[in-house]
Amino acid sequence: MAAVKKPSFEPQSAACPTCKGSGEVSVAVRVGRKRQAVGQQTGLCLTCLGSGEATTST
Ligand SMILES: [Zn+2]
Repeated sequence: MAAVKKPSFEPQSAACPTCKGSGEVSVAVRVGRKRQAVGQQTGLCLTCLGSGEATTST
């Protein structure tokens, strides 16, 4: 049994705390006066602008 090499997916830079490095955030979609949540929509993370990395200003 060969040892399965785990893909090292460690981020080099700090992952965005908002999207956890995925670059996308799920937002609840609400419609109607009752503001009933009908589902979730995936949107671009505005914190990192989809890069998934925390923006570090040098
Ligand atoms: Zn982000």
